[in-house]
Amino acid sequence: MFGDIMFCNQNYKFGVIPKKDGYAIRLALKPGYITSEQLDAISYIAKNFGEDRIHITTRQGIGLKIKFEYLEEAERLLNDVGIKLGSTGKRIRQIVACIGTECPNSIGDSIKLAGMIHDEFEGIWVPKKLKINISGCPNDCTHHQFCDIGICFRYILKIDKKECSECGKCRSFCEVDAIDWKNKVIKENCIGLGECLKLCNAIKVEDKVISIFIGGKGGRFPKRGKFLANVKTENGVIKVIDGIIELYTKFGKGRVCDFVEHVGIESIKKSLKEKGLI
Ligand code: SF4
Ligand code: SF4
Repeated sequence: MFGDIMFCNQNYKFGVIPKKDGYAIRLALKPGYITSEQLDAISYIAKNFGEDRIHITTRQGIGLKIKFEYLEEAERLLNDVGIKLGSTGKRIRQIVACIGTECPNSIGDSIKLAGMIHDEFEGIWVPKKLKINISGCPNDCTHHQFCDIGICFRYILKIDKKECSECGKCRSFCEVDAIDWKNKVIKENCIGLGECLKLCNAIKVEDKVISIFIGGKGGRFPKRGKFLANVKTENGVIKVIDGIIELYTKFGKGRVCDFVEHVGIESIKKSLKEKGLI
């Protein structure tokens, strides 16, 4: 009835999805860049073990189909160039990052941070798939607000009261009306992109922070993540993610958004605060 293939005997594992005519393998790529040596290895596998083509996934990953008998050799060739199989199932998935410091809008190095997160967390077990996206600025090119853990570099701005001449030219400049030019303050609704820095020298960068959002998701019923905290350093972000994962693996059942809804964002904040993480 099911032909020659006995799926129950196949070596189903992380990053390997059995299909009726071979395995679909997915690669857990270090975010940002892929080397020519790695591309050569992937190309060799596609040409000799697969269908002479690869699939670019929606999460900046790579998937390809290979014949059943080549799984072990394909994995060995990939491991030789520093690539593991992964990014399937109830795991931390391929980390997504924007081009970061190559972009003129960049406020922080999204690729470096994504690499740190990849090294620390990629592939670890969680109750449901967990997606982490990192944008180098609030322009949100990675849709970080619509994934389980979203991260973005941003500015905290201020108006230098001595330098401001009350000319009012910033009055209608800000898209979210975050400049209170009369009182010479930047309001809390500022998204921290810093477009206004180009407008007036009285607007200054007070700080750079990394904002963390949780509980977003895309799909049929998209949800915007909730703001969790601003963190000062990349290592601080790693610690917060670690804290979120600990809570989620202990108490979560559905996706992170279900967990956030169930326990409430404030109790997550409280718990992370008690641990000194935010
Ligand atoms: S999110 Fe910001 S830094 Fe990243 S690519 Fe988009 S505009 Fe550039
Ligand atoms: S950074 Fe953007 S949102 Fe904030 S005050 Fe400047 S223009 Fe407005």
